[in-house]
Amino acid sequence: MDAIDRTAKTSRKPTSSDKKLDALKAKQQKRKFRGTSTPDPSLNVSLEDFTSFTQHLQASRRIFALLGAGLSVASGLATFRGSDRLWRGHEPQDLSDAQVFFEDPVKVWWFFSQRMMGAQEAEPNAAHFALAKLASAKEGFFAVNQNIDGLCERVAFPQSHIAQVHGTLFSIKCSKYQAEKDKCDYESEVTYPVNEHLTLPQDIDISDAKVALPEVARSDLPHCPKCNNLLRPNVVFFGEATPLSLTERIYQFTLGGPIDLMLVIGTSAVVLPAAMYIPIARNAGARVAFFNMEESDEEPGRLQDGDWFFKGDASETVADMLKGVIGNVGR
Ligand SMILES: [Zn+2]
Repeated sequence: MDAIDRTAKTSRKPTSSDKKLDALKAKQQKRKFRGTSTPDPSLNVSLEDFTSFTQHLQASRRIFALLGAGLSVASGLATFRGSDRLWRGHEPQDLSDAQVFFEDPVKVWWFFSQRMMGAQEAEPNAAHFALAKLASAKEGFFAVNQNIDGLCERVAFPQSHIAQVHGTLFSIKCSKYQAEKDKCDYESEVTYPVNEHLTLPQDIDISDAKVALPEVARSDLPHCPKCNNLLRPNVVFFGEATPLSLTERIYQFTLGGPIDLMLVIGTSAVVLPAAMYIPIARNAGARVAFFNMEESDEEPGRLQDGDWFFKGDASETVADMLKGVIGNVGR
């Protein structure tokens, strides 16, 4: 299933987050063999909430899910909101920007190369597997995925049931994809490294501004085989719109009939357009289940009567709350 070559993985000392990850994996391994009719006691979910959610999930025909960075935290990927979000002192959104790419494509390519390497080395967690299983089991399931880490693709998530609204790290496209003149539609799937010049140095963390960024000539960056302009990551940069074809698929689902259940997973859902999806689902009749570290006191994420809130790491809560319908998942 996992076609990505991992032979280039570098060895490094285990950090405290590695140890936390190992402990989490051990817990998940144990959970695999538990029953599916009661919640895991360590999650502090009441039997009443577990049962009412399971019954509603079982009966739900149309389920809408919004997936955010919290889904991949247990896979070791940063949320880009915490104190570790800065890259060489820059906010991530300042590097994921078309104008910055135009001015300094070398720097932007290094930033994305490091994110690609991290995502390629990461493993999908139990929540990715559980959601893929639910999507395969329920014909009327549709997810909007804000993550670009490729982890949902690696668990064989049925692609007709998911919209990758921010693109993916594992694809590149021509920088002239939107040009008014000589527009170019080239795009291609990629793995890290995009080319040999963008291989990260071993044992040096280039996200640290004190480390010199390896020199790469602009001419050594990936260029389009069709028009010879620069290629760029196939992600939606800040300020760019989600491709229209994806927006249309989302509306086809949300306008396609009543929605029974909405799952909000690992996202505060405060940023547009993600913020719209909760009210849209409520208007279509959905009850909402939140899987987050913290309860939101801001709209649209504020709890309403009939909602569920499952507090904790999504890799634990999602797999445990779905097990009454899809059974236990591995990992
Ligand atoms: Zn091109």
